[in-house]
Amino acid sequence: MTRGEQLYEGKAKKVFSTEDPELLIVSYKDDATAFNGLKKGTITGKGVINNQMSNLLMQRIEKAGVPTHFVRELSERDTLVKKVSIVPLEVIVRNISAGSFSKRYGVEEGIVFDAPTVEFSYKNDELGDPLLNDDHAIALRLATPEEIGTIRSYALRVNELLKAFWAECGVTLVDFKLEFGRLADGTILLADEISPDTCRLWDSKTGEKLDKDRFRRDLGGVEDAYQEIMSRLRKHI
Ligand code: C5P
Repeated sequence: MTRGEQLYEGKAKKVFSTEDPELLIVSYKDDATAFNGLKKGTITGKGVINNQMSNLLMQRIEKAGVPTHFVRELSERDTLVKKVSIVPLEVIVRNISAGSFSKRYGVEEGIVFDAPTVEFSYKNDELGDPLLNDDHAIALRLATPEEIGTIRSYALRVNELLKAFWAECGVTLVDFKLEFGRLADGTILLADEISPDTCRLWDSKTGEKLDKDRFRRDLGGVEDAYQEIMSRLRKHI
């Protein structure tokens, strides 16, 4: 399968057509952005790690019964995926308070919730991805009530799988963002990526941050954190 025309360039990935109209190639870059593109940088080797990590996790998720867009890893940075139309929702699952949750509600980071929370943002850079509830998503026709039910149950299932998997690696899954897409027949699939760019991952013993917050918050050791989290995953997969 070879790259055709470039269809899209996002903040961290490029998307190419292929000879099969139902398949695309996603190519992961080392570019990093934060705060809706206001902060820009490069994390050397990130594209390779995010591609490989996302693919390993998606395959486990698929085996556990949540359909994903993953088809085949083509190279260090390139993956063949099913073509979907992305549901314009950022689906965020939180197990522990952090980031925008702590800021919005004025609470410290690190409060362990009794049950995971699912939250939706409207995927819209111009508006700064505003938070929205199920009724808003339905009113805006971003998804049907049935689709929202499916997305919520898939997101919680993914949380259970990832939380257990990362715990075996000595890592606490604090929160993460998922995106879903629709196939032409309306089937909902997990799409996008699962990586240290899209998850908060803390060392279970020390609480050290092993994710993109090191870049967002200028904590240093960004590349080392990405390498560390990948090597822990490899030891356990
Ligand atoms: O910033 P916030 O606390 O809302 O982020 C929650 C989780 O969603 C974090 O793991 C973050 O990495 C992820 N996220 C993301 N892309 C966004 C917003 C959040 O991957 N645009």
